Amino acid sequence: MTKWVYRFGAGHNEGRADMKNLLGGKGANLAEMASIGLPVPPGFTISTGVCTAYYDNHHQYPSDLKAQVDEALRAIEAAVGLTFGDTDNPLLVSVRSGARVSMPGMMDTVLNLGLTDQTVEGLARRSNDERFAWDSYRRFIQMFGSVVLNVDHHHFEEIIEHAKHNAGVIEDTALTAKDWKGVVEGYKDLVLRETGKPFPMDPQAQLWGAIGAVFGSWMNPRAITYRKLHDIPAEWGTAVNVQAMVFGNMGGDCATGVCFTRDPSTGTNLFYGEYLVNAQGEDVVAGIRTPQPLAKATAKPGEVSLEEAMPNAYAELMQVRATLEAHYKDMQDIEFTVQQNKLYMLQTRNGKRTAAAALKMAVDMAHEGLIDQAEAVMRVNPSSLDQLLHPMLDPKAPRTLLAKGLPASPGAACGTVVFSADEAESRAQKGEAVILVRIETSPEDIHGMHAAKGILTTRGGMTSHAAVVARGMGRPCVSGAGGISVDYAAQVLTAGGKFIRAGETITLDGATGEVFIGSVAMIEPVLSGDFGTLMEWADKHRRMGVRTNAETPMDAETARKFGAEGIGLCRTEHMFFDPERILAVRQMIMSSTETGRRQALALLLPYQREDFRKLFTIMAGLPVTIRLLDPPLHEFLPHQDVEMEEVAAALGVDMETIRRRGVELAEANPMLGHRGCRLGVSFPEIYEMQARAIFEGALAVEKETGNAPHPEIMIPLVATRKELEITRAQVEKIAAAVFAEAGHAIEYSVGTMIELPRAALIADQIAEVGDFFSFGTNDLTQTVFGLSRDDAGKFLPHYVDAGVLPKDPFVSIDVDGVGEMVRIAAEKGRRVKPGLKLGICGEHGGDPASIAFCEKVGLDYVSCSPFRVPVARLSAAQAALGAANDRTA
Ligand code: PEP
Ligand code: MG
Repeated sequence: MTKWVYRFGAGHNEGRADMKNLLGGKGANLAEMASIGLPVPPGFTISTGVCTAYYDNHHQYPSDLKAQVDEALRAIEAAVGLTFGDTDNPLLVSVRSGARVSMPGMMDTVLNLGLTDQTVEGLARRSNDERFAWDSYRRFIQMFGSVVLNVDHHHFEEIIEHAKHNAGVIEDTALTAKDWKGVVEGYKDLVLRETGKPFPMDPQAQLWGAIGAVFGSWMNPRAITYRKLHDIPAEWGTAVNVQAMVFGNMGGDCATGVCFTRDPSTGTNLFYGEYLVNAQGEDVVAGIRTPQPLAKATAKPGEVSLEEAMPNAYAELMQVRATLEAHYKDMQDIEFTVQQNKLYMLQTRNGKRTAAAALKMAVDMAHEGLIDQAEAVMRVNPSSLDQLLHPMLDPKAPRTLLAKGLPASPGAACGTVVFSADEAESRAQKGEAVILVRIETSPEDIHGMHAAKGILTTRGGMTSHAAVVARGMGRPCVSGAGGISVDYAAQVLTAGGKFIRAGETITLDGATGEVFIGSVAMIEPVLSGDFGTLMEWADKHRRMGVRTNAETPMDAETARKFGAEGIGLCRTEHMFFDPERILAVRQMIMSSTETGRRQALALLLPYQREDFRKLFTIMAGLPVTIRLLDPPLHEFLPHQDVEMEEVAAALGVDMETIRRRGVELAEANPMLGHRGCRLGVSFPEIYEMQARAIFEGALAVEKETGNAPHPEIMIPLVATRKELEITRAQVEKIAAAVFAEAGHAIEYSVGTMIELPRAALIADQIAEVGDFFSFGTNDLTQTVFGLSRDDAGKFLPHYVDAGVLPKDPFVSIDVDGVGEMVRIAAEKGRRVKPGLKLGICGEHGGDPASIAFCEKVGLDYVSCSPFRVPVARLSAAQAALGAANDRTA
């Protein structure tokens, strides 16, 4: 018999924290908390295996599931002394989903399940609180109605608004038992009207309805979108947790709250959270009432902290905080309920955090001795470092404040206002920077939040959906900006008498919660000491070197600042486009004789020499890989008439000649045309000029500094051994000449890019001629897939959406195909030359998953754009530590 159901609480724990795959995060952690002695109401988890079986088996549950659920339910009844469906002493339960990782978009929670027209009377008698019983009942119908029966939740809100209006009150808490009875009647009519069936009065039907809704929600479009964005396989399935209810809404000595054991925005070691008196869980998240702080020290005037309101429960919670951190060795995100001054734990999980907080916590926890340095390195998601490296508002920049909300997710963002997720998505696709403005967000908005540069909501606290999701995505977010009112119909927001319409620009500061009119200037971030510390620890653990792709002194300097250990790719053609030189470049292309070309190249030589001299100086003592000219010559030709006229005048030829040359050089498929080393083979003088510039630049630096750089000269797009032989000979000839002129030689090496399948397959032959390989995985991806780099953008997103490809292979290496080419080439190359230096310089060099692959195949270094250097350092360390790349906060 398969075990489908696992009990927890009341001294009978069948799960553990490391059983997340089977029990989901929530279920595994409930069992873990119960087993370390924390107060967890008893319950049971229906395993993820049921979800998988359900979908594999035409939406049928395993036949022995019902008996196991019944037995587990009996155990809860026995533990709490109540009976499910009993009219005098009814057991009520919560039903909650729980996947391996927390997943917005799924059915979340149904509370108070088991209430009916009969059992509500029993609850009223037992609690001696009629108002509480009817409040709980209406909450149940509302939650069950919207999440299980799919009745739009706005209809329920309208009925409450109506009741409050009739009673002449503002807060829900002011409604009486009688008022809530009226609301319940209204709700039941609503359900009948909307679904055509009366609200189910059989607790068993309610239970199975809720269980079915959890499993059903695994495949709803929102959940599917979320999984796609976060690389979560559909096969994982979700678990369902059924747990005895405890009540935070039973009176003034009851409360419900959510908290983090450290501040999830900054990482500060302060207990951080919110609670509401006399409320149930969803009230805190929904942002209907304004939650109060936990600690007295953080309470603002007028706020009442839990520490003051319920000192005993607070003290117990502080104890739980310490126990959980010591046990899990990580910051925890906790949900709790206080029922008549007694604390109950309803959830714990590793808390989501901003990049800044992840960094601070990792470093702090290592200093505290909670974790070691290697673990600290593993704790920070390399991709999230982007958040720290990105701009913030320039403190000196002028600005006009529109409103202030909560600093929900740090970073600054500027963009045009849009009021719907769909609009955000469609405008962002056209390249527009947008700020998504919503009263509050829900899982339906996730695609828009992802597309937006920043998110602004007018309702909800620091734990609202918008805040939590934005932090996870690394989007700046201001939540709960109550001073702003939003009119979706009129597509306008108003604050303090000012109007901002859709399409107008605003700026958010997610670190302060401020919203500004128009755009505000931004500045580069200053990196904290923790950043340097973590990077140092990462460097200690990584094996691969990290270089940068740079050709300008500014990029090279930025990369050095971020810790680049040399240049892995200097694309020399980028230097040819400089306005001062382009005329000489065009002159070279236009010449039909070698002499003419050499004359033009002589004009370029001093520029190139100076370029390389600067790079060698900035990268003093570090390797610099210079790639000789790669793209097809026609790319440098003028396109506009004015440019053509300029070139014609400079060369003393007519426009017709220029046009004709353009036609001659044009290629049907330039990516596979006369580029890379093919140019060097046809026009040796080009590579000769570049080689001379490199050697003369290097000798100049040696003269200035006393230290000779070691240039690594790289030949692009090699497909045959002969091509490398020819171009290498060109370089060697020039080296000999330059060294003879100087009366003195320096060391250098000549290697090649491996960016064509043929080169990979004959890498052993190529290695005989080359000193190093650098994998050009951009072209290698293009050629292995037969997929044009320039055109793939039109259909690749669809391929990814439709699941034809798991990811864009130009972003993250296709391990099975392109990766296999790399592996073959590395192996063949090293068979011939065991010490052959291997690197990667395609865009993949800055992608964490690709870096993990590079570690596996034993590359010596990765090279990426300057801003990705820290990402690469951390990824390389994690790869070396044997990390799966998703094992991060
Ligand atoms: C490559 O092809 O991966 C590469 C680094 O070269 P480029 O992008 O300049 O073609
Ligand atoms: Mg290339």
